[in-house]
Amino acid sequence: MYTGSCLCGGIRYKITDEPIFPHFCSCHMCQRWSGSAIAAWVDFPLASLTFEESGSELVVCQFSVDG
Ligand SMILES: [Zn+2]
Repeated sequence: MYTGSCLCGGIRYKITDEPIFPHFCSCHMCQRWSGSAIAAWVDFPLASLTFEESGSELVVCQFSVDG
C-alpha cells in the first residue's frame, strides 16, 4: 500500500495496487506540467485510489495534450 498527501497535509490518499509504469519523461508537456527538465511519473489503477476525509473540498483538474 502507498500513502501520500499534498504539501500541507490537507488532502491525504491511499493506493492499494502496485505501480504500473514508473518512468521519467522529458517531453515538452511534462516539462510545462512539472516546471522542471524531467518529470518522474508512476501510474496506478484509478480504482485503487481513495482519499481520506480531510474536511477540505477536493478539486479534480483535467488537462489535455493541446494545453
Ligand atoms: Zn512527457
